[in-house]
Amino acid sequence: MKRREIIKGLGLLPLGGTFLGSILPGQSLLAAPSRVPKRNLLKELGIRSFINAAGTYTTMTASLMHDEVVDAIEYSSKEFCMLNEVQDKVGEKIAQMVHAEGAMVTAGAFSALTLGMAGILTGTDQQKIKRLPHRLEEAGIKSEVLLQKGHFDGYEQALYNTGVTIISVETADDVERAVNEKTASMHFLNCNAMEGKIMHEQWLQLAKKHNLPATIDIAADVPPVSNLWKYNDMGFSFVALSGGKAIRGPQSTGVLMGKKNIIEAARLNDSPNGVTIGRGMKVNKEEMLGMYAALDSYINQDHDKEWKMWEDNIGYINDAVKNIKGVTTEISVPPIANHTPKLRIAWDKNIIRTTRENLGDKLRTGNPSIEVISWGDEDNSISLTVFMLKKGEEKIVARRIKEELSVASS
Ligand SMILES: *Cc1c(COP(=O)(O)O)cnc(C)c1O
Repeated sequence: MKRREIIKGLGLLPLGGTFLGSILPGQSLLAAPSRVPKRNLLKELGIRSFINAAGTYTTMTASLMHDEVVDAIEYSSKEFCMLNEVQDKVGEKIAQMVHAEGAMVTAGAFSALTLGMAGILTGTDQQKIKRLPHRLEEAGIKSEVLLQKGHFDGYEQALYNTGVTIISVETADDVERAVNEKTASMHFLNCNAMEGKIMHEQWLQLAKKHNLPATIDIAADVPPVSNLWKYNDMGFSFVALSGGKAIRGPQSTGVLMGKKNIIEAARLNDSPNGVTIGRGMKVNKEEMLGMYAALDSYINQDHDKEWKMWEDNIGYINDAVKNIKGVTTEISVPPIANHTPKLRIAWDKNIIRTTRENLGDKLRTGNPSIEVISWGDEDNSISLTVFMLKKGEEKIVARRIKEELSVASS
């Protein structure tokens, strides 16, 4: 994924494009709109909403919350609670759901990584908690984390935020050589598992051998739903998950789950505690309860039915465009992250005279506005997913892409 390109591309978007009036929270694929807002702020402020055929990209606001989540937020927003009590009770429930000893709601998977790392470094020692992220070694805090060379993708910045240094390793021998008295943990980036030479089980064995915590980032790796507990069952010391991607919790949430002592220590490093690196990662009670409601409904939904709907919808769009002269299509499912059907539409530039950017712009500025994956290495293809579409939007997406490809070929 080329995040920088996405950000660059989105910076150029025209403001105040087509307003669909249909991106209100509480609408889901399954339910009819249940709320009529008193004010339509998107319209008032001229904020473009769009059909999201790209996916759970942070800059595109990632996902829409189900009614259950909005209900949890709305209801709890009208009551006071003790923030730590909400986190205690929500964490306990989530821990049970994901087979972990402990869990907490964080401000995204990124904060989960920072706080989990902080918990490993400090334990419950208040002096160490205050010290992060400076001069760890002077304070007797371990300061090195091992990460496989193929697992560097930028998100390790979340670990650097605690003050650690990351040591790149490739082989088991490298691990043996790298471990020393400063080593705090061994981190694993699940979506890059195939880019490394050491897979989960061996990583865990190596960590166990050296009595180190093994930690894992699975931020975007649900579905399948079983990944929620798979890595806890395997024995990772902490697991970081995004709440606002396919699980459709509040976009700003994530979950840190894992060993009881790490979660306890991570919470000491977090808001509402004042002198901590986590104080700026505040999560409010509405988000905590919203995250819990999202997980609860995600775990209990009919995943086979949802998968079938995705296949039908991607098939519908594929059927609409695959026979256009010069077009070739391909349906695939990424094996780990964003594991959901994806359609690639490519064209012969001698027959269809448009580029990826141009087609992306036409779809974006058309009516209704549509976002697809219009970045990447190839100039003559776009890709799309259907898991963030609302009911019926697959028809609009199919029609618009067909129209634009037809115009470009005549
Ligand atoms: C999205 C993502 C994150 C960050 O998740 P947030 O919930 O946005 O903080 C971290 N790691 C990976 C691999 C991701 O895909």
